[in-house]
Amino acid sequence: MNRNQIFSQTRWRLAIWYAGVMGIILSLSGVAIYYIMSQVHGFGLHQELESIAGTLHDSLEPNLQQPGRVEPEAVKALPGLCVVSKACDEQVDSPNRHVLGVVQREGYYVRLLDFSGQIVATLGYSPAGLTTNGQTRWQTVNDQSGNRYHQISLPLHTSRHRPWGYVQVGRSLKEFDTHLSSTRWVLLLGLPGIFLLITLASWWLAGLAMRPVYQSYQQMQQFTADAAHELRTPLAAIRATVQAVLRIPNISESESRNTLQTIERQNSRSSQLVQDLLLLSRMDAQVLVTKQQSCCLNDLISDVVEEFAALALDHNVLLTQHIQSNKCLSVSGDEEQLYRLLTNLVTNAIQYTPPNGQVTVRLDQDEQRALIHVQDDGIGITAADQSRIFDRFYRVHYDRSRQTGGAGLGLAIAQAIAQAHQGNIQVQSSLDKGSRFTVRLPLITTQAS
Ligand code: ADP
Repeated sequence: MNRNQIFSQTRWRLAIWYAGVMGIILSLSGVAIYYIMSQVHGFGLHQELESIAGTLHDSLEPNLQQPGRVEPEAVKALPGLCVVSKACDEQVDSPNRHVLGVVQREGYYVRLLDFSGQIVATLGYSPAGLTTNGQTRWQTVNDQSGNRYHQISLPLHTSRHRPWGYVQVGRSLKEFDTHLSSTRWVLLLGLPGIFLLITLASWWLAGLAMRPVYQSYQQMQQFTADAAHELRTPLAAIRATVQAVLRIPNISESESRNTLQTIERQNSRSSQLVQDLLLLSRMDAQVLVTKQQSCCLNDLISDVVEEFAALALDHNVLLTQHIQSNKCLSVSGDEEQLYRLLTNLVTNAIQYTPPNGQVTVRLDQDEQRALIHVQDDGIGITAADQSRIFDRFYRVHYDRSRQTGGAGLGLAIAQAIAQAHQGNIQVQSSLDKGSRFTVRLPLITTQAS
């Protein structure tokens, strides 16, 4: 399986997992919302019926005299009450009407039952074929046409506390059922649509999550290829030298010495490369412990300038240093690494400056940070290349850099060291005018030297 297939498969797997988990969460939330809605609705219905039945019960009881009989006082107390054995008025105007207003709406009914379950009187709408059992307090019943009703039955007593019968208040569940059924439909039709959207979003998100992994994988591949390429060159040179020498029948001592010197040069080049690669990979993995010593930058710069005076002379370049104050600017870190950082910058400055040029190393302070400028008036770097020179193995002048033994890792290492010391490196440059590399490092103390 190639790497593109691995990444594409991983992306699919991530998207499916994400969509699956989100789908389950969403479905459970839908079911929970549906359940809560039906409970809240049902509770409201209960409360309403209980309150109506209570009001009717309280206004009826003082006006009931004989068990199972509705006297005129009771009809007066409950205008609109239709006694089954008599004819009833359709409309009743009464000051009490507001109490019963709700039961006169469509879908509500009130029934008075005697102890045998016979309907004695009704109020409001009266569905046919409902059970007349008054003993069960809460019931859900069906009428002749199969419509569902929810009803409450309360026992009634006469004014002298003798059992009279029951008052039954019910309400049609049609509205309630329609409401729940439309909610069910919204959930059933909406969930697949939302699930589809989630799947698309998951696919996109998985791609987003995979992108840095893919990029870093590609960088790693590129790094391995570049490193192999760089290592192959000195090894091939050694092999070619050895093969050429082996073809000579009688080799003189000076020829042997020359050969060994060539091999030694190539060998040290490849071991330097291996060391640089090792240093970078350890810095990447953060396994290289950066020592935390106090390092005086003034001394460090003087040492570097002193050490590279000979190389500068060799290139006919004037190497100078400008240290603003004689106070020691100290940073906390690894002196060896900081030394390496500076040598990389100074070597580059000397190498990329033509004869009679000038390289200056300057040390300044900017609030709590030390600024080290390595400035040259050499060949300069274009704006496009400035953004790439810190990349591993990147070389602007490939041949020139190779001649000087550079593998394009010097600035990458310098940057990694600066970052390991909570600092950074910036470059300002113009072509044919020169470059200025500025290293910023956090200071710890400023003490007299
Ligand atoms: P190298 O080992 O090849 O010098 P570096 O990482 O140190 O690699 O530098 C990367 C590239 O940046 C070099 O190949 C060179 O082209 C360019 N460069 C670095 N320093 C300078 C400078 N002072 N002036 C001009 N070009 C520079």
